[in-house]
Amino acid sequence: MNSTFPDYEHSSLDIEQMMALLAPSASVNQQLHKLIESLGQQGKMLPFFMLVQVVEQVPIAISITDKKANILYINKAFTEVTGYKSKEILGQNESALSDRSTPRTVYYDLWHTISRKKIWRGHLVNRTKTGQRYLAELSIAPMQDEEGHITHYIGMHRDITKTYHAEQKVNNQKRLIESVINASPVAMVVLDKEDRVVMDNQVYKMLISDLGLQEPVQFFLNLLRQDMGDLWQYASNTEHGFVNRELRMEGMGRRGTRWYACSGNWFTENDTCADAFFSGQTKDYLLLSLSDITQQRRQQEELQLQTLRTLLAEEEQLRSIRETLLGAMHHISQPLNQISAAINIMSQRNESQNNPIKNLLQQVSRMGDETLATLQRCVPEIPETAVIPVNLNQLLHEVTQMSSIKLLANGIIIDWRPSPILPSVLGSENKLRMLFKQLIDNAIEAMNRYGSKERLIKITTAVERNWVYVLLDDKGPGIPSNQRIKVFEPFYTTHPMGAIQAGMGLVMAKEIVNQHNGTIEIDSAYDEGCRFKIGFPVHQKKSTVKR
Ligand code: FAD
Repeated sequence: MNSTFPDYEHSSLDIEQMMALLAPSASVNQQLHKLIESLGQQGKMLPFFMLVQVVEQVPIAISITDKKANILYINKAFTEVTGYKSKEILGQNESALSDRSTPRTVYYDLWHTISRKKIWRGHLVNRTKTGQRYLAELSIAPMQDEEGHITHYIGMHRDITKTYHAEQKVNNQKRLIESVINASPVAMVVLDKEDRVVMDNQVYKMLISDLGLQEPVQFFLNLLRQDMGDLWQYASNTEHGFVNRELRMEGMGRRGTRWYACSGNWFTENDTCADAFFSGQTKDYLLLSLSDITQQRRQQEELQLQTLRTLLAEEEQLRSIRETLLGAMHHISQPLNQISAAINIMSQRNESQNNPIKNLLQQVSRMGDETLATLQRCVPEIPETAVIPVNLNQLLHEVTQMSSIKLLANGIIIDWRPSPILPSVLGSENKLRMLFKQLIDNAIEAMNRYGSKERLIKITTAVERNWVYVLLDDKGPGIPSNQRIKVFEPFYTTHPMGAIQAGMGLVMAKEIVNQHNGTIEIDSAYDEGCRFKIGFPVHQKKSTVKR
């Protein structure tokens, strides 16, 4: 039998008895009792009695109707849901419950289904006896006689108003959150513990095409983990968020270098799986917001560049004075050393006829030493600057920006190949700027001198085993292998006409590299010009978090 009514077919109730039971003219309960008695006499009482008990006690509103939906029987739960007692509703049509807000098509579908001996399942808006509307989740099953004719219908329904209300509330909240997130001008993405994206917004989706990355968030996570070190773990374990951590993305996608302010918040959600009911399992998520601050950063950078240009010009002037004075001292000290040597020889020989010359030489030597001491006092000190974590990509970008006028004037372009993720190095920004400015100036000068056709300086940054490397390639004449060490010596120059200022640039460069515990060398394998390879140890972040 095609019915959802509890196992009628297998009960000890036959269809004739049931028909008698459901006769519309008699009270169903009276009939039930009669039947139970008659079945009891036949030794069949227990299964049917149990069935009746089940129907009576089940917390689902059950009604049995005739073929036209006239109600013949209701259970207790029906009264509880609708407010109608048996005597008030028996004999009435189920449409007594109908609220006119249910579309007619629903009733049509209902009758169309059940009259074809199928079970109908759906929702109707009903009214209780007091006129209160409620949402009924309903199943209607036809009952058939032995010849397969529909004799009755069994309706079962639950008031799901509260569940529907709660569901709708959740849906509305979800929609509200989604529309707020989608309307946000900031890219937002929610990640589970395995870094899988569980929710994102339109701006985040745009990032995918903008940056040309399949899942940009993985890239941001790598940068953040690297940037925050131990702090990341601490923040995620304690659900402490982080706010506005600035990340720089090198040459990604169509719009070049970009800056993002990233904020993150960890939150916990109760697991909705059945097995979490007793265990109270939870799930952790991270809400990451990525705000594109490239425009602000570019404006800031422009202002910063103006200041840096002035600073660097001042420092260059100082270095140039220093270099001139040291050069002069170097030139003076050479003959002075020879005079000292001559005085020594004369003193050893002790020939009296040489005494006047010796005295004169001693006088010259003294004056020379005094001059050297005076010059030494005039050599200006380069002011020390703070040592801080420095992003060499950012710094090199600034240096090339500062040199842009000179590069343009010389028709040289920079081929900028930054490592997308570059850990910081510890250093003095000013000194490092001077270092790279010097190397770029040298490259420009070498290419001009050589008359290079390819006017290109390639700058590459890379990370290798806890070292950050910068490769600076030019297309000039290169430095012959026998001079590659000497060029770092004071006053050594490859210029045919050595000027007094020449020959100190690479000494300064090496000095700065040494002060940063780094290395500088000329790559012997590179034969298209000159390649300087400068390396600095990665700044190992120590946890500053108090636990
Ligand atoms: P209409 O759909 O216009 O029909 C009027 C009456 O004509 C019906 O009630 C029915 O007696 C009869 N009828 C209509 N179509 C057929 C058909 N194809 N075959 C035989 N008779 C037909 N409705 C609710 O709103 N709430 C309920 O909780 C509910 N429970 C039901 C439980 C059962 C077991 C059954 C069989 C029906 C139930 N209905 C229920 C449907 C209800 O009978 C009405 O069809 C519905 O309420 C629409 O009311 P109406 O006055 O517009 O009736």
